[in-house]
Amino acid sequence: MKKLVCAGEILVEIMAERIGQSFRAPGPLVGPFPSGAPAIFIDQAARLGQPAGLIAAVGDDDFGHLNIERLRADGADISAITVHQGAATGTAFITYETDGSRHFVYNIKQSAAGLIEMGAEARALLAGADHFHVMGTSLFSPEVIEVARNGIEAVKRRGGTVSFDPNIRKEMLDLPGMRDALHFVLSKTDVFLPSGPELFTFAEATDEEGAAREMLDRGISTVVVKKGAQGAVHYDRSGRIASPGFVVDEIDPTGAGDCFAAAFVSFWLRGEGPKRALEIANGCGALAVTKKGPMEGIASLAEVEAFIATSRTGAPA
Ligand code: ATP
Ligand code: MG
Repeated sequence: MKKLVCAGEILVEIMAERIGQSFRAPGPLVGPFPSGAPAIFIDQAARLGQPAGLIAAVGDDDFGHLNIERLRADGADISAITVHQGAATGTAFITYETDGSRHFVYNIKQSAAGLIEMGAEARALLAGADHFHVMGTSLFSPEVIEVARNGIEAVKRRGGTVSFDPNIRKEMLDLPGMRDALHFVLSKTDVFLPSGPELFTFAEATDEEGAAREMLDRGISTVVVKKGAQGAVHYDRSGRIASPGFVVDEIDPTGAGDCFAAAFVSFWLRGEGPKRALEIANGCGALAVTKKGPMEGIASLAEVEAFIATSRTGAPA
């Protein structure tokens, strides 16, 4: 089976217990939960039985070991996760507003996550990789952009493939080096996985189909637009396929996009058709939102298949 690799931040997530709770006053918190978009992605792929490894850095503390042990237990390759003495693992504190929006207090760049580098272990992991996944959120400094470039170039040299989840806020486009980095990534991308309006970040067209077609014309072979509870839409040269989401109670949406992307890319790498890849991906995304904590809803292939067999779907996207 093909091996996929991702690089970027490992974090713990700590959540306000009540909706509408402010971080400007003391209050009850839950966590730490293992987190970080690349870690969520790799953990979900590994749980589906895909060989998957992560290039990352943590501190020599409980938050770092919590993540490493979860990834190891779920079958991920942790050989390129560096443990730094004297640096603290990255954190994200999250509170949910009453309107459903999220408010974050991050410590990523200044944490051990900012110490990620292309060491001997990372090079060894990439020497056995067939696919590299890029997360827009992980391109937060020149050092991590360099790791992503190395990853892309290493798999492309071996005839491998690249997927890209932009997961990017418009303000991030103005960070130094960001536009160049994103254009480089897009020029190498085989599978593009924007969520909703992110599709339009790199396109002139203002309608979904037109924007997807522009991305295909750039040489991307597959575009999958994630649409939350509505599921997802797949575009390639042969047309458009919409796949409805599964009906679940949403407890915590964080991480759904990463679980979806991991499942879609794993099945795409196995040569499965878009209908099956979308169904498994929608199943993983739906299960992800049913638990508090971004990695707590991650399902094995047997679990997601059992869920799909007994679930109702909504209207197609
Ligand atoms: P993230 O917050 O992780 O960045 P995202 O914005 O990238 O998420 P979404 O479109 O919110 O991605 O969710 C990804 C996938 O997860 C959806 O395409 C769908 O399959 C599933 N999903 C998300 N929310 C729900 C929900 N409320 N009910 C059912 N499925 C959901
Ligand atoms: Mg997203």
